[in-house]
Amino acid sequence: MSVELSVVVPIYDEQESVPELYRRLTEVLGAAVASYEVVMVDDGSHDRTWELIKELAARDAHVKGLSFSRNFGHQMAFTAGLDHVDGEAVVIMDGDLQDPPELIPELVARWREGYDVVYAVRAKRHGETAFKLLTAAAFYRLLRVVTNVEIPVDTGDFRLMSRKAVAAFRRFSEHHRFTRGMVSWLGFRQVGVPYARPARHAGETKYPLRKMLRLASDGITSFSYLPLQLATWVGVAVAGLAAAAFVAALVAKAAGSLLPWAWIAFAGLAFLGGLQLIAIGLLGEYVGRVFDDVRGRPLYLVGETVGFGPGERRPAPGVTA
Ligand code: UDP
Ligand code: MG
Repeated sequence: MSVELSVVVPIYDEQESVPELYRRLTEVLGAAVASYEVVMVDDGSHDRTWELIKELAARDAHVKGLSFSRNFGHQMAFTAGLDHVDGEAVVIMDGDLQDPPELIPELVARWREGYDVVYAVRAKRHGETAFKLLTAAAFYRLLRVVTNVEIPVDTGDFRLMSRKAVAAFRRFSEHHRFTRGMVSWLGFRQVGVPYARPARHAGETKYPLRKMLRLASDGITSFSYLPLQLATWVGVAVAGLAAAAFVAALVAKAAGSLLPWAWIAFAGLAFLGGLQLIAIGLLGEYVGRVFDDVRGRPLYLVGETVGFGPGERRPAPGVTA
């Protein structure tokens, strides 16, 4: 039986937050919609997260859980959740309570007005390091410049999607996912709702710099060819400079200059070599992603599920039992 609202939450090693997340979601959802389900996606946690999800599901039929066979990442957890929901509308949100459940009624209200995507805009952010604030602000603005899709700035993945938008989202097959960009790409009627982003409820960020950089490059490579085209433009500029330098060298030679040409030539060659390696590296970022998509491995694997009644859902990718 279909529900009015589904909530998808990726969770990775958040045992301190799960009970509070459940408490606040239950309080809000019970009042906001006629019927709901909460699909918690355990992204290969090493702590008691999955046990807690199973306990909640045993106690409360609103709660359903998926457990990945290993850590596939936050973005893939959203995808798995979206593959398994059944609501007329679906909210996707983080599990550390930085996406406050109390905003959900506002998202639902805009959806009832007829919007297909209602995204939450971070008007204020609390409890983040200066480094994170600065890099995030810079990244969203860079993204705006280099991509050809309108991706709203200062917006994470916290959003509501209509059933129509979810059905469209399920047609994506790419392995490297930047959910907020993909949802913007869908089109339909979209609108933003501002909110103040609180600090984490407990624990540490599960996005170390390495994962953040990967997400950033997934965002850029998914929606822009600019890094590839950069090589062309830099190449044109460098070739122009080299031609000018050649002419200057001939003139200087004729005038009897004693400059050590070998050193100058060496510096020029090393500089060019560096540029070429950078261009090849950028190319590699795209080629690697093409390789992953061409190989067509499963996007994720589910090890265990809880709370989904037998035969209640369409067979979803990766569900074995
Ligand atoms: N997360 C996940 N898999 C990961 C990393 C994070 O499912 O590999 C979850 C995490 O538990 C949280 C959400 O994704 O619910 C956002 O992560 P986090 O709060 O660490 O990111 P930040 O808010 O610091 O950018
Ligand atoms: Mg967080």
